[in-house]
Amino acid sequence: MSRPRLSKGLVQVYTGNGKGKTTAALGLALRAIGHGYKVFMLQFMKGSKDYGELQAAEKYLPNLIIVQSGLETFVSKESPSQADIELARRGLETAKKVINEQHYDLIILDEINVALDFHLIDLDDVLQMIKTKPPHIELILTGRYVPQAIVEHADLVSDVSLVKHPYYQGCAARKGIEY
Ligand code: ATP
Ligand code: MG
Repeated sequence: MSRPRLSKGLVQVYTGNGKGKTTAALGLALRAIGHGYKVFMLQFMKGSKDYGELQAAEKYLPNLIIVQSGLETFVSKESPSQADIELARRGLETAKKVINEQHYDLIILDEINVALDFHLIDLDDVLQMIKTKPPHIELILTGRYVPQAIVEHADLVSDVSLVKHPYYQGCAARKGIEY
């Protein structure tokens, strides 16, 4: 059965220090799914199954596939473990494969900007992936510290600025809000 495909897929970036980047991408996924599109999200540097979006996708959203390629622990920018590097690289290989298979309409590379900033993956590799993506696929890159070269190759860049966050009032991460 035929299904809709995007006539023009663009490259979007959600970056900045404020809260709302990953959840903006998930909101976009929800909107796209409502119109019959299929969404694949690959989460770099994340390995915890305790994210509500993983459970929601699995239970209620067959057209949203979320795959993680990271450890449950925080990555050290100065000395990432070999496993952190290996998982990020594998994640990028998976992303390239999924993009080229063209089975999904929106492909979200969650926290890929951070993986680049931490030098877990190669910037030229990611730029090449962006430049050669099939035209009807929308690519969404999230995470703080987006490299300027990615900004130059993106069609849409939203910089979420930190004005207030309850974390700075001592409020710990809340289930269903932060994860
Ligand atoms: P969200 O997943 O809620 O959309 P995000 O993707 O914008 O947040 P990240 O930079 O990926 O945020 O940070 C990961 C976690 O830290 C999330 O749980 C997020 O809610 C929280 N967070 C976001 N911004 C801040 C901040 N400025 N200070 C403290 N914690 C934050
Ligand atoms: Mg995020």
